[in-house]
Amino acid sequence: MPTVPETPDPLVLRAPRLLDGTGAPPVDAAALLVESGRIAYAGPAAGLPEGAERVEALDFPGATLLPGLVDSHVHLVASGGPDLAADVPKTEAERMLAAVVNARRQLEAGVTLVRDLGSPGAEAVLVGRAVEAGTIPGPRVVASGPAVTMTGGHIPYLGRVTDGVEAMRAAVRANLALGARCIKVVATGGVLTQGIDPREPAYTQAELDALVDEAHRLGLTVAAHAIGEGGVAAALRAGVDSVEHGMFLDERAIELFLKTGARLSATFLAPHGILVGPSVPAWIKDRARPTAEAQARSFRAAVSAGVPAVAGTDAGTPENPHGGVAREVAFMAEAGLDVLLAVKAATGEAADLLGVTDRGVLRQGAAADVLVAGGDVAADLGALQRPAAVFQDGRRVG
Ligand SMILES: [Zn+2]
Repeated sequence: MPTVPETPDPLVLRAPRLLDGTGAPPVDAAALLVESGRIAYAGPAAGLPEGAERVEALDFPGATLLPGLVDSHVHLVASGGPDLAADVPKTEAERMLAAVVNARRQLEAGVTLVRDLGSPGAEAVLVGRAVEAGTIPGPRVVASGPAVTMTGGHIPYLGRVTDGVEAMRAAVRANLALGARCIKVVATGGVLTQGIDPREPAYTQAELDALVDEAHRLGLTVAAHAIGEGGVAAALRAGVDSVEHGMFLDERAIELFLKTGARLSATFLAPHGILVGPSVPAWIKDRARPTAEAQARSFRAAVSAGVPAVAGTDAGTPENPHGGVAREVAFMAEAGLDVLLAVKAATGEAADLLGVTDRGVLRQGAAADVLVAGGDVAADLGALQRPAAVFQDGRRVG
């Protein structure tokens, strides 16, 4: 990352348009007033408070001001090599190094908040603490700790292998003790793990119910990896807060989403990376193909029924390097999500799911995490992939 000069405080940012992360239409001739790391004003430049004309200002012609992006599904310990099991380093020291490098990549892409959904131990928790302390560059991290997965289930090498109703409660508590702020449960088979098919449910209803009950009781949200209809329905019945992947959605699943208010994190980049990656093993491609074929149709049906989408990349999985959430937004829009809702999915909606309500939006009082995208985002989502500047807590970091 290039060296960035000290950021003036207070500071005014101006651009021809602003998206606030709530899904509201763009504000034209916009300005942000940033003071002590917080947003003091966001809106039309004409409405800046008195005295703002004496504040140092940065102009970004042609750009869009928007909240720093949020990626609600990453694996910081993995770096996008062709085979995830081989890509996750075997020692904790190497995993920490990978996570530190990947955190910086996220920030360089304008991502200021991520949810890490599976590492072997406390790696992502520790990266998040170091970012908060200001010792390393990276996004804020809401981490799940190890994913809760059954014997014979998906990603045991990023997980805590757990079987049985009472053991589910113990697994939640063990992750809480590691510093987890959410829980990841593997509710179906997965593309990247041989054995149980991605379309088959993993845990019993009773196991999922116990896990979600315990997590919510302790103030932790739950993300369920679920690909097939049966596992998606079981996870939603248990009350999970988000479904990750959800490639096969039937009417029953969509009804359950609407009834529970759960969000859908489709992770289009995950099967995409597997299918386009030249070195990804054939058995992984074979398992990914049916999920990729079903995905756009399921996603379109869900969002047109009103299921809230959040942007998650599953970064770290094959040929899916960190920093790709802007591409995920483009995939969601291509699959039928309204452009403003696609931006909301990678900002306000995702931050709300992560329980971080003072980020992901540009409004008075929120943390000044700002992406200045080099173009008109509402007209061209590709502009999200061209960061002109990135601010975190009011400080320019890119
Ligand atoms: Zn994942």
